[in-house]
Amino acid sequence: MLSTMQDVPLLISRILAHGSRIHGDSQVTTWTGEAEPHRRSFAEIGVRAARLAHALRDELGVRQDERVATLMWNNAEHVEAYFAIPSMGAVLHTLNLRLPPEQLAFIVNHAADRVVLVNGTLLPLLAPLLPHLPTVEHVVVVGIGDRSALDGLGVRVHEYEELLEGRPGHYDWPELDERQAAAMCYTSGTTGEPKGVIYSHRSVYLHSMQVNMTESMGLTDRDTSLIVVPQFHVNAWGLPHATFMTGINMLMPDRFLQPAPLAEMIEREKPTHAAAVPTIWQGLLAEVTANPRDLTSMKQVTIGGAACPPSLMEAYDKLGVRLCHAWGMTETSPLGTMAHPPAGLTAEEEWPYRVTQGRFPAGVEARLIGPAGDVLPWDGESAGELEVRGNWIAAAYYGGASGEPLRPEDKFSADGWLKTGDVGVISADGFLTLTDRAKDVIKSGGEWISSVELENALMAHPEVAEAAVVAVPDEKWGERPLATVVLKEGATADFAGLRAFLAQSIAKWQLPERWTFVEAVPKTSVGKFDKKVIRKQYADGGLD
Ligand code: ADP
Repeated sequence: MLSTMQDVPLLISRILAHGSRIHGDSQVTTWTGEAEPHRRSFAEIGVRAARLAHALRDELGVRQDERVATLMWNNAEHVEAYFAIPSMGAVLHTLNLRLPPEQLAFIVNHAADRVVLVNGTLLPLLAPLLPHLPTVEHVVVVGIGDRSALDGLGVRVHEYEELLEGRPGHYDWPELDERQAAAMCYTSGTTGEPKGVIYSHRSVYLHSMQVNMTESMGLTDRDTSLIVVPQFHVNAWGLPHATFMTGINMLMPDRFLQPAPLAEMIEREKPTHAAAVPTIWQGLLAEVTANPRDLTSMKQVTIGGAACPPSLMEAYDKLGVRLCHAWGMTETSPLGTMAHPPAGLTAEEEWPYRVTQGRFPAGVEARLIGPAGDVLPWDGESAGELEVRGNWIAAAYYGGASGEPLRPEDKFSADGWLKTGDVGVISADGFLTLTDRAKDVIKSGGEWISSVELENALMAHPEVAEAAVVAVPDEKWGERPLATVVLKEGATADFAGLRAFLAQSIAKWQLPERWTFVEAVPKTSVGKFDKKVIRKQYADGGLD
C-alpha cells in the first residue's frame, strides 16, 4: 500500500526559493582585500540567480543537462552560479583551480563543458588552456582582472555583470526529476585519473538537511560560517546549499586564503563556524602564534578531508576554538561522519571520541570488510576497509557524454556499496577511527604500520610543524616507514631525538629508521599530504 503523502521533487530551486524569501536578509560577505568586504543578501542572490539563468538560456543557449563549468574562488557570484545552473536544469561543474593544467584540461574535455564562468583573477590560468579545450565556446568573466589574455583565442567573451543587466529577476524554474544531475565534481586525483561524481538534486537536498542537523554542523541564521573549503572541493562540503535552508550567513574568502588575511577576517567579521582541511588550520596556528588574534568567535570548526592530528586539536582548544573532526569523500557528497561525542561526558571523557573520525548519521550505512572479504564486527578492534551506502553516496562515476556510468570493481562492491579505500575500525556505538588509506598503510614483515599514527605522534612534538610518513621498499621487511619532517622555525631537534620522542607512544618495531628533513610536505590540489609525490621521491628512485 502506498502512502497518502504528497510527493514534491527535492530540487535545488526549492532551496533557493526558500533561502531568498524566508532568509532574505542573511548575507554573503566576500573578502575583497580592501577596507570593506562586499556584502550581498540572500534575497539579492535569488534575483541575480534568476537573471543569470535567463542569460545562460537566452544569450548562451544553455540547455537541460548541459554542463556549465565554474573556475572561481569562494564568493557571492559563485553562490549565484551554484543555484542558477542546477535550478534551470543544467549541471554545475566546479573546476579545481589548483590542478595541474593537463588534469584540468582532461576534466573540461571529459565533461565537454561549453561555457566556463571564470573569475577575472584566474584568467592567467584559463587562457593558456583554452587552445586545448575544443568544447569551450563561451567564457563569462566575473570580477576584476585583465581580460586581454583572452584576445584572439576564438571564444566568445562575456562580462558577468553585463550579461545579468536588465534581465528578469524571476525565473520559472522547471519542475525537474529530483534524480536528475545537478552538479559534478571530479575526485582530486590523489588516487590516479580524476573521476567524475554526479550529484542529483535529491542527493544535494538530503545532504544539505544532514549538514544542518545538530549532530552535524547544526548552524542557524544566528551563525556565520567562514567557508574556506573551496567551492570546487566537494561543493564546499555542502555548505552553500545548506546555508540557504537555514539562513546561515556566509563569509567567503575569495582569493585571500593565506593565514594572515584569514586571521584578519575572523577577527573582524567574527564568524561562529568555519570549515577547512587541516593544512589551513596548521597555517593559521603558526600565524596567530606569531601575531596573536582573537579567534574565539568560532564556536565550532569543521575539520576534515585528511586526518586531523590530535595535537592540532589541543592547540586550538587552548585558543578557545573547538575543532570537530569529520570524514568524507567526493563520492560521499562529502558528509560521512562527524565527531560529536555522546552527551553527558566530561572534557576528559570526550577526548577519545573527538580524535576519532566521528559517528555515522542516519543517512549513511557503513560496514567493514576484512582481508578475506568477510564483514567485520563493530568492536573497536577489527580493522578492515570501510564501505558505505546511502542516498548521497555515489553508485558510479560519470562515463563521458556518450558512455555508460563506470562502476570499477575496486570502487564499488557487487552489491552496490562504495569501497572507500580507507582502513579503520568502528566502535559498537558507531564511531569510526581510520588508521590509514589502504594504499598508504606500511606492510612490514606481514604486520601493518599506520602512517597516520606515526604522523600524529610526530606532529605532537613541539618542534615539528608537519610530518608525513610513507612506505619505502625494504629487502628484509618488504616495506618500512620513512618519515619526512618539517621543523618549526628555529627548531634544533634531530632524528635521534625525534625517534626517542616517538618511542614514548609507538611500538619499537614500528619506529622509522629512515628520516629526512624537508622544507615543506608536498600537497595535493586541495591541501592534503601528497604521498604519491613523496613515495616517488624516496621510494621509486626520484621525481620525474
Ligand atoms: P581524493 O581521494 O582525490 O583525495 P577526496 O577529497 O574525495 O579526494 O578524498 C577523500 C579521502 O580523504 C578519504 O577517502 C580519506 O582517505 C581522506 N579523508 C577525508 N577526511 C578524512 C579524515 N577526517 N581523516 C582521515 N582521512 C580523511
